[in-house]
Amino acid sequence: MSLAFLEPYWYSFVDKFGEDFLISYGTFFAHQAFYFGAFIPFFICDFLPFLQKYKIQQNKTNDWKSQLNCTFKVLLTQTLVQLPMMIIFHPAIHATGLRAKAPLPSLPYLLLTLTCSFIIEDFYFYWVHRALHHGIWYKYIHKMHHDHSAPFGITAEYAHPIETLILGVGTVIGPFLFSRDLFTLWVWLGVRLYQTVECHCGYDFPFNPTRLIPFWGGAKFHDFHHETFVGNYASTFTYLDAMFGTSDKYLKRLDERAAKKSQTKSE
Ligand SMILES: [Zn+2]
Ligand SMILES: [Zn+2]
Repeated sequence: MSLAFLEPYWYSFVDKFGEDFLISYGTFFAHQAFYFGAFIPFFICDFLPFLQKYKIQQNKTNDWKSQLNCTFKVLLTQTLVQLPMMIIFHPAIHATGLRAKAPLPSLPYLLLTLTCSFIIEDFYFYWVHRALHHGIWYKYIHKMHHDHSAPFGITAEYAHPIETLILGVGTVIGPFLFSRDLFTLWVWLGVRLYQTVECHCGYDFPFNPTRLIPFWGGAKFHDFHHETFVGNYASTFTYLDAMFGTSDKYLKRLDERAAKKSQTKSE
């Protein structure tokens, strides 16, 4: 299936705002819209009593003070770090061949780019995140992201500016290897931001369609990392932690809970 039918609309959008503006400021505004757009539904969940049974850490509530403090710091990092970086690196990004007015990919190629970008980002994130937990520098950089032991959606980008820069590299490798067009970059940005907000949302919904994706970690997997500060280092999938034994404690807990559940049922 071709996405060529979208090209006239996309091209007139690019002509209206200009390629340079869209690659720098446009990417920033798209990022903000995707990030806060992904967070709003999870924020609403906090006010719906019938969904509270799906909360992962039942004994913890996130007060307004910590939510506002987190939102303020996230906005500060996004405006003072991410936006300037997008502007400073604009000539370099242009030099890599990224273009806004480029032929749109076919749907299968777009899906291939998204899948490979997830695998590449997850691999990069696993090793860098694991390294950030090393005792030598943990307290200087990554400790900030662990201020919230019971995360909520907006905590996804609550991190030290250095961490934002280092981990951001893994996010852009995939689209730059597979497709240097702004449309693909924005689609990838949208799905990746939804994924990271979702895995920090604090809820484990049984009807979540991502449960059908093989090796998908989701909120329950990353929430355990925030609760215990160790293991479950990957951003998206579970296989790397399983392969390198860094999710053993998490798997043990799942087994214990399953055994407890079946014991209660048989009583
Ligand atoms: Zn961590
Ligand atoms: Zn996190």
